[in-house]
Amino acid sequence: MSTGKINVQTENIFPIIKKFLYSDNEIFLRELVSNATDATQKLKALASIGEAKMELGDVKIEVEIDKAAKTITIKDKGIGMTKEEIEKYIAQIAFSGAEEFVNKYKDKVDKNVVIGHFGLGFYSAFMVAKKVEIFSLSYKEGSKAVRWECDGSPEYQIEEISNKTTRGTNIVLHIADDCEEYLENSKIEGLLKKYCKFLPVEIKFGTKKDWESTGEKDDKGEDKRKEVEKDNIINNPNPAWTKKPIDLKEEDYKAFYHELYPMQFEEPLFHIHLNVDYPFNLTGILYFPKLSNKLEMPKDRIQLYSNQVFVTDNVENIVPDFLTLLRGVIDSPDIPLNVSRSYLQADGNVKKISGHITKKVADKLEEIFKKDRAEFEKKWDDIKIFVQYGVISDEKFYDKAIKFSLVKTTDGAYHTFEEFETKVKPIQTDKDKKLIYLYATNIAEQHAYIDAAKSRGYEVLLMDTMLDPHYINHLESKLKDISFVRVDADTVDKLIKKDENTVSKLSEDQQKQIQPIIEETVSKDQFHVVFENLSETDAPMLITRPEFMRRMKDMNQLGGGGSMAFMGNMPDMYNLVVNSNHPLISRILNESDDSKKKNLAKQATDLALLSQGLLKGEGLTKFIKRSVELI
Ligand code: ADP
Repeated sequence: MSTGKINVQTENIFPIIKKFLYSDNEIFLRELVSNATDATQKLKALASIGEAKMELGDVKIEVEIDKAAKTITIKDKGIGMTKEEIEKYIAQIAFSGAEEFVNKYKDKVDKNVVIGHFGLGFYSAFMVAKKVEIFSLSYKEGSKAVRWECDGSPEYQIEEISNKTTRGTNIVLHIADDCEEYLENSKIEGLLKKYCKFLPVEIKFGTKKDWESTGEKDDKGEDKRKEVEKDNIINNPNPAWTKKPIDLKEEDYKAFYHELYPMQFEEPLFHIHLNVDYPFNLTGILYFPKLSNKLEMPKDRIQLYSNQVFVTDNVENIVPDFLTLLRGVIDSPDIPLNVSRSYLQADGNVKKISGHITKKVADKLEEIFKKDRAEFEKKWDDIKIFVQYGVISDEKFYDKAIKFSLVKTTDGAYHTFEEFETKVKPIQTDKDKKLIYLYATNIAEQHAYIDAAKSRGYEVLLMDTMLDPHYINHLESKLKDISFVRVDADTVDKLIKKDENTVSKLSEDQQKQIQPIIEETVSKDQFHVVFENLSETDAPMLITRPEFMRRMKDMNQLGGGGSMAFMGNMPDMYNLVVNSNHPLISRILNESDDSKKKNLAKQATDLALLSQGLLKGEGLTKFIKRSVELI
């Protein structure tokens, strides 16, 4: 037996690191199983080029818990380490990495640092163990087995042993008293499933019962089955994203989706297989999920892997914001994991990756659009939110997406912007050559206005999602000479302003006479009375909401802030439009009985309020009473 001293500057880094990493100490298992995987993969590589001349045999990694001894053991049958290698790789390299970490962070515990991503490697064992032993036998011919032991202080013991005769390494963690939760089977199995679910080497954790055919038939001619004890294999070493797209069928992609998200019963809408090896390495499969109305479970998120080791499901800054609601996996060894989020944002590779993902998503959408328009329309309502968000937030995405983005009319027909423009241009261009896109936000509530617009031959779009107000603003700033106007923004004649002047039946004097009577029927702070020369068959009075004011309020509700916050605090403003040409208005004017005159005016106003859903409470009760009297 010999002892050694690890050459580190900081005495006893163990307690410091332990304190730092406490909340994330579960990553020790990921680090140690990754090391075991690396050791196995290295041996496979050496064997494949004839460097390691032996039977590989079964190279499963095993994780075992011994409750009585309070140990967790990670066993691999990989390349193993000689005495010299342990002294070099573990005592010098692993510990110097840990020391570097401590020196960097001992004065500032930066909460933004994603501690769980730190590749602290072997040293992370000391986050949960008071003592660590290594038993190892190198694959090299004539090697002697060694045992190394350390309690986390810079001192360690190392000796040659004779009772390890199989190739590979066993790491034995003597679990610290305050970490005994890790001696629970369910805890370890949970962690293995979280971090190691797709590692490329099989990982065994105990055994499980299963049913197997005996090869014999019973009386009914059915297979006889017996209960057997089988290895409990945690992982799928060959997950779909590591395969070539041509080797996968639609069912394989769907099956993998459910493997990733076992609690998800809905099928994904479609998938995108990512596969790049230059200028960065990236593989993965992204799925467009069918989103339900309720907020999705936060665990169903895109998962980030590095060489099949799970890193995180917080992919902010790696995947563009508008795509973070997608699902699936991204695997890239080129994403720096041991840096803070703000650094990640500035990283060149990460920017390229984000750009690449955006492009791939746009290409896929375009492909479906071109190949199968009917299918694309069917999916549109579900993917719209992603597309709109992308169009608003990402210039490059906009350039591609504007060609396949659809608008939906209140009749349920879908058009691209180009198609829609061609269709409505002849009649929806106003006197200033602006193309007016009429839209509704609620078919039931705005029914009368939609009807009026349609009777003119206008097409009305349905823009009823949360993002639509922003989307509309963005499109107006991008597309030339177009304007969006909600159907109730003005009377149907004025929604699209043309050069037609109709004559008024009321003189200016008469309008002045009737104006105060009508103004008395409503609150002056909320309603602005205006006269218009509509047709006799139109309603006597109408309520409209000027587009600009209403939109400012909508935006404010979505959290526009700034100057719009001021607008948002204003009361709702409406126009009370009086149809100068309607006989009822003439009747009000000519009525000699003062109380009858007021009653008529009030009744006409209430009808207009009623059609906008603005007549409520006491006003509504009075209206009903008055109506009965009038009948
Ligand atoms: P990293 O894995 O990032 O290189 P570690 O601290 O985890 O850093 O490990 C240091 C080195 O120790 C590894 O590079 C490897 O050479 C060696 N090592 C660790 N675990 C094993 C193992 N199970 N089998 C063989 N070698 C190992």
